[in-house]
Amino acid sequence: MKFDLVTLFPGMFSGPFSESIIKKAVEKGLVDIALHNIRDFAFDKHRVTDDYPYGGGAGMVMKVEPLTACLESVKAARPLSKVVLTTPGGRPLSQSLVTELALEDGLIIICGRYEGVDERVREIFVDMEISIGDFVLTGGEPAAVVLVDAVSRHIPGVLGSCESALDDSFCNGLLEYPQYTRPPEFRGLAVPSVLLSGNHLEIKRWRRRESLRRTFLVRPELLDTADLTEEDKQFIRTLRNGGGIQD
Ligand code: SAM
Repeated sequence: MKFDLVTLFPGMFSGPFSESIIKKAVEKGLVDIALHNIRDFAFDKHRVTDDYPYGGGAGMVMKVEPLTACLESVKAARPLSKVVLTTPGGRPLSQSLVTELALEDGLIIICGRYEGVDERVREIFVDMEISIGDFVLTGGEPAAVVLVDAVSRHIPGVLGSCESALDDSFCNGLLEYPQYTRPPEFRGLAVPSVLLSGNHLEIKRWRRRESLRRTFLVRPELLDTADLTEEDKQFIRTLRNGGGIQD
């Protein structure tokens, strides 16, 4: 998977991609991350990349010419990649969108700054606009890090075990069940006995119920679209009636 990040601040990416899983994915050649500094494509004397908005108002707008030169250069090298604009006004990022994006050949991600990009950049180049949540960041770089990280986890070979991504929250439409590791007791808090029982059927059942319970308590709207069995529905009814005390 090829990621091309179009940014005014390439230095912001040195930390996030030089550690842990993404670093290994790059080393293994599973993920290719290239940084493109928009300022390198500003050809006026002062290498200006922003200007005042027409019509007045606060803040600056990213100029169309340097972005055009930068995007045309990146697209020439990556004709199959989709161009993504990070913006709070975009399609909300979700696990299903992440899995869709992981099927692409590559993503060219535009990191906005100031009040955003000149609208004509959208019109000429952008295939998809993505928001990472209903809040406003100072720039698109953290959003690009989120995108690269979330999408990379779905590239075969990036995660150690292929099961880990499938068990995660949202993959089956529910939040994940609680996880424990040694010691079996810490400050009076014991690991649920079923997890120490070695009974895989019971463990699976317990995990499913805890997943349902957590989703019911924190994100109940997810239950409307999750794939639920009759047993799941019965358990949710019990939760709604105030039952379902933890084993
Ligand atoms: N004036 C813009 C608005 O109201 O929609 C906000 C601009 S914001 C200060 C600067 C840049 O940060 C945006 O162009 C975008 O690239 C990025 N950004 C901010 N919030 C974001 C979000 N929730 N998701 C994705 N990108 C975001």
